[in-house]
Amino acid sequence: MKYDYLIVGAGLYGAVFAREAVNAGKKVLVVEKRPHIAGNVYTEDVEGINVHKYGAHIFHTNNKKVWEYITKFAEFNRFTNSPVANYKGELYSLPFNMYTFNKMWGVVTPEEAAAKIEEQRKEIKGEPKNLEEQAISLVGRDIYEKLIKGYTEKQWGRDCKELPSFIIKRLPVRLTFDNNYFNALYQGIPVGGYTKMVENLLDGIEVRLDTDYLKNKQELDEIADKVVYTGPIDAYFDFSLGTLEYRSVRFENELLDIPNYQGNAAVNYTDRETPWTRIIEHKWFEFGKDKDGNDIPKTVISREYSSEWKPGDEPYYPVNDEKNGALYAEYKKLADKEQNMIFGGRLGEYKYYDMDAVIASALDMAEREL
Ligand code: FAD
Ligand code: UDP
Repeated sequence: MKYDYLIVGAGLYGAVFAREAVNAGKKVLVVEKRPHIAGNVYTEDVEGINVHKYGAHIFHTNNKKVWEYITKFAEFNRFTNSPVANYKGELYSLPFNMYTFNKMWGVVTPEEAAAKIEEQRKEIKGEPKNLEEQAISLVGRDIYEKLIKGYTEKQWGRDCKELPSFIIKRLPVRLTFDNNYFNALYQGIPVGGYTKMVENLLDGIEVRLDTDYLKNKQELDEIADKVVYTGPIDAYFDFSLGTLEYRSVRFENELLDIPNYQGNAAVNYTDRETPWTRIIEHKWFEFGKDKDGNDIPKTVISREYSSEWKPGDEPYYPVNDEKNGALYAEYKKLADKEQNMIFGGRLGEYKYYDMDAVIASALDMAEREL
């Protein structure tokens, strides 16, 4: 055998596993069907701006081991995610915090804000039965109507009364002037872009781009002892049990000849009428500076639309409902029977993984395997 491991997919999972395998003295080949490395964290330089091509990615983690690992491959800047909500031209601070409550109701103290929420949540009696009731019982009807209802219905394509309440539970509600979206200990954007970070992970490792493993399976299987597969698990089995569903997003990118479009990396459009859910202005992930520290005269924005997924589209978010969970469990049984195959990552395990979780998972697998 020419290689110890064939790694399918040059995303974060594949790149971390490849790095660890090579460090353990193994011979490794990475194949990637796209024309570039880095999977969904891929960034592309446009006029000195690192554009997040598959959606905005903000690294955040409480896992010290992951942080110490990944900072060997990139320096991270001090970016903190603080999105702004735009409701018909009214701007609000997110996540829900004292700035939001002050703008919404004119309240000044945390006590006044708490009293206002208390008064509005009274309309919900008993356990919240759906997302609408959950949201009102968390922050009251005013915030629900202006900052939650429209955004959520656009994002999920369904009425808030038909959505499960857990979706909204992970949004923080704070009676302090803290508008850091994440509660993580470590947060930032890799200086020079995510692509550079993955390049560093793959340094010295043989990578074949534009190579679809499933179309060349037999010959690729013959040159390696083991395969680490990070593509969709249902595609591996030729969709024999049916197709796993995804929620999809669509981006419209625009290069503008102005230095500052919206003054923030992310603005959420929370009314129902604006067709996009949010606009990302990529330069603000790196404070508007190019790699030499100069102000960038242009800007790139991406309007993000939620879209219905159909087979053949780019898979983004796994749908964690009962039907898809049960189908995945059936595929997992088949996967467990495969010889010399490891299924990993967000597509291989059909699991919504943040970047830190996917790195942790690849490191765990490497520890068990190598
Ligand atoms: P991927 O990046 O998908 O890599 C899999 C690779 O395998 C791809 O490059 C694919 O082309 C390749 N492949 C598939 N099939 C084949 C085949 N047959 N042959 C060869 N190659 C193949 N996480 C955060 O922590 N913070 C965020 O802010 C954040 N924002 C996100 C926003 C969006 C819109 C999305 C969708 C995800 C976001 N994530 C975020 C999650 C993050 O993108 C994932 O954790 C990470 O990209 C998963 O890495 P992976 O290697 O498992 O998968
Ligand atoms: N949400 C909202 N208004 C906002 C931002 C989020 O109502 O301005 C809701 C929406 O239902 C979303 C959920 O909160 O699905 C979780 O938001 P988060 O940003 O964590 O989710 P993501 O957009 O990453 O799926």
